[in-house]
Amino acid sequence: MMKDPFASHDLATRAIHSGFDPSEQHPSTVPDIVLANSFLAEPGAGFAANEIAELDQYVYTRWANPTVRMLERKVAALEGAEDALAFATGMAAITAVLLHHLSAGDHLIAGEVMYAGASELMHTMLPRFGVNVSFVDLTDPAAVQAAVQPRTRLILAETPANPILSLCDIEALAKIARQANAILAVDSTFASPIVTNPIALGAHLVIHSLTKYIGGHGDALGGIVAGKTDAIAALRRAEGVHLGGSLGPFQAWLIARGAATLPIRMQAHSESALKVARFLENHDRVARVLYPGLDSHPQHELARRQMRLPSGMLTFRLTDGAKRLKEFASQLRIFHYAVSLGHSKSLIFYLPTEDLAAKTFQLTGAARQRYDAYAGEGIFRVSIGLESADDLCADLEAALAS
Ligand SMILES: *Cc1c(COP(=O)(O)O)cnc(C)c1O
Repeated sequence: MMKDPFASHDLATRAIHSGFDPSEQHPSTVPDIVLANSFLAEPGAGFAANEIAELDQYVYTRWANPTVRMLERKVAALEGAEDALAFATGMAAITAVLLHHLSAGDHLIAGEVMYAGASELMHTMLPRFGVNVSFVDLTDPAAVQAAVQPRTRLILAETPANPILSLCDIEALAKIARQANAILAVDSTFASPIVTNPIALGAHLVIHSLTKYIGGHGDALGGIVAGKTDAIAALRRAEGVHLGGSLGPFQAWLIARGAATLPIRMQAHSESALKVARFLENHDRVARVLYPGLDSHPQHELARRQMRLPSGMLTFRLTDGAKRLKEFASQLRIFHYAVSLGHSKSLIFYLPTEDLAAKTFQLTGAARQRYDAYAGEGIFRVSIGLESADDLCADLEAALAS
């Protein structure tokens, strides 16, 4: 991939300029959308994925597309990565990484609590293909070290973890992975490239659901994997081309437009989330708030070390659990009661502990006790949007009084 001419500039500049080269097109000041699904080729050009030597030579949009490439270069620039490969969704990106690095008989270390879709995939699908998975408390590097086996090929971590906002020490996990000759892939969706750059901390791969902060407007689905040039080219030739979870050009364009404002949005999300977290922490009806920006977060020190900003996600638990869930949720005027996260509207969603802990994460024994200590009977997961923080607190105040 061509070297990013903005590589030495600040994140705010890279978010806007990296990836986009006006001389490649009209030259308009914003990117064109190239909707073509195939491109004129030289007669005699190769047809198999492993014959395509230079993937910047466009052949077919499932393999590579100029508009998608523009987004890939932008996200790689924001992550300080050599290259990136975009997918149709975050789940497609995670699936590609799992299938690329794991074969029958191999061993995977994953978090005991992670994004529910990824957790369910690893619990139900990977064992069918003969992959052994250990679900480990990734907040504890010693537990990760103890879980390493001779055939451990991949450690899949997520920080902050969805939904309980626990953190893992990327530097410590990277050291363990390197000693074990394994790959460390970090799902950094909750952090975004503005908050943490896992590759600078030693991770081999960083994964994002572009659907969330990077797209940032709640109107497109996407996923991405960033890493070294060779690793990304191999992923493109194998899982990109053959599984076919490719991102469409229009989605890529929307997400790149969103990404341009990511640095100022993350600043605003973080400032408002801290205000809302403090408001909730001081409210009588709130039993517990988990937010990396609060001193009360069990890993606040790690948050300070590893996160430039505390980001916009928090969870809280009411003193009376879910008993008045409907009354509370129906009083909210600004918050939308909906899943997903990371865009301009504030979103709230109740996660029942029993369902998640037992069915999705399949937690038992000490792991279940750890989860209950975080989540009790259930938690509200909140994505703080870009509305006024005072209005958000007032909205919660009114609903909590109901
Ligand atoms: C949403 C999410 C995903 C999945 O992304 P999709 O784009 O919905 O497929 C993966 N990881 C995390 C942490 C997420 O929040």
